[in-house]
Amino acid sequence: MRLVLVGPPGAGKGTQAAQMAKRLDVPHISTGDLFRANLKGETELGLEAKRYMDAGNLVPDEVTVAMVRDRLGDADTSTGFILDGFPRTTSQAESLAQILKDKGLALDAVVEFEVDDEVVVQRLLGRGRSDDNEDVIRNRQQVYRDETSPLLRYYSDRLVKVDAVGDVDEITERVFTALDNRGS
Ligand code: AMP
Repeated sequence: MRLVLVGPPGAGKGTQAAQMAKRLDVPHISTGDLFRANLKGETELGLEAKRYMDAGNLVPDEVTVAMVRDRLGDADTSTGFILDGFPRTTSQAESLAQILKDKGLALDAVVEFEVDDEVVVQRLLGRGRSDDNEDVIRNRQQVYRDETSPLLRYYSDRLVKVDAVGDVDEITERVFTALDNRGS
């Protein structure tokens, strides 16, 4: 299965991606995690990404797409993958389509996690990550509305919507049920 997870910051994409990856036995690829690993390792990529991440803005597509192209070149993606936090713009989605097309592949589905902004702010404030202060969170939500939400239209033919409020395992079940029922 080749899946993309989309949803506002704090919708629980990372948690769900991890559970889904385990069940499907495919890698969980989170661009946020890849950037954070680069930051920790003080790589050039990490240093470049830092100022965008600290402000809650998107790292430029050029940098992000190159990083994903690289990751999707790894052998463990041959049976599929779960992309978490990428693509985040229509332009990134077009790049992803091209990367996959070059390999003769396509996405199976795009899962949208639906959750209310206020629920999310409270969740994120409890998470304690360095880019989780209220101003940065509000900016990330705005970036989601402006830059990422147009993706939902781009992917309308493959979109599977899931209510992301509730118990973690219950939401995972909703995701798999929705994926099983897609197209029917
Ligand atoms: P996340 O862990 O998905 O919340 O991502 C944390 C931060 O990493 C975001 O606020 C962005 O600064 C950056 N980031 C992650 N994924 C992307 C992406 N696909 N495009 C641009 N920036 C990204």
